[in-house]
Amino acid sequence: MSTTSRRRFLTAALAAGACGAGLSACSDSTAVAPAVASSNPPTAEPVLDGEQALARLVAGNARFVAERDERLDEGVARRVAVSQGQHPFATVLGCVDSRVPIELVFDQGLGDLVVVRSAGEALDHSVTGSLEFGVAELHTPLLVVLGHQRCGALDATIKALDAHQRTSEAGQIGYLVEALAPAVREVAGKPGDRLTNAIHANVDLTLAKLRQSTVIAPLEAAGKLKLVGAYYELDTGRVVLS
Ligand SMILES: [Zn+2]
Repeated sequence: MSTTSRRRFLTAALAAGACGAGLSACSDSTAVAPAVASSNPPTAEPVLDGEQALARLVAGNARFVAERDERLDEGVARRVAVSQGQHPFATVLGCVDSRVPIELVFDQGLGDLVVVRSAGEALDHSVTGSLEFGVAELHTPLLVVLGHQRCGALDATIKALDAHQRTSEAGQIGYLVEALAPAVREVAGKPGDRLTNAIHANVDLTLAKLRQSTVIAPLEAAGKLKLVGAYYELDTGRVVLS
């Protein structure tokens, strides 16, 4: 199967979805409406640009921080509505840390976000390919790389490098250390907290690598995709944009 064929297959299998028995709606235009008003139209074509998508995420994080119970897009009606298709408005790469669930942090519901998570936001072929799928096939106009306070993956990388640990002896975790090591090395000798500096550097380096993607770079150059780095504060629940 050619690359193009595979992409089409993935698009057909993951994005569109087939009409299912027992549901009253089989197309986006006739999808079941949510029972409650929603700020995020469940099946509308994506009309947001990157700035609008970012504003929606920022507003969602403000709701999360304020503990306002306005999560309207997680119920049965929403689930039914998005079962026949999806139009997420942002792709987010975050850490696997159990304290940083992406949808909750941005107060978004079913069908809103393409979420990819790896320890320390480390990139590999699968992670990068999944992000490319989000922006190129699901057409999200925004790609966010979200680092977070006290990231254990970066902390472990610092400790491994300091101990001159042979990463080849640490199973696949060694791969993560190798992937995150450039961020740790970049902040060596800089003032401030070493771990915090490395977390921010890692977000920047990850964005730089993603900008080398032959899928992502042209979208950004054409103004169809906005790339943003961000930092989640465990202490406050706030997401601070880079
Ligand atoms: Zn982490």
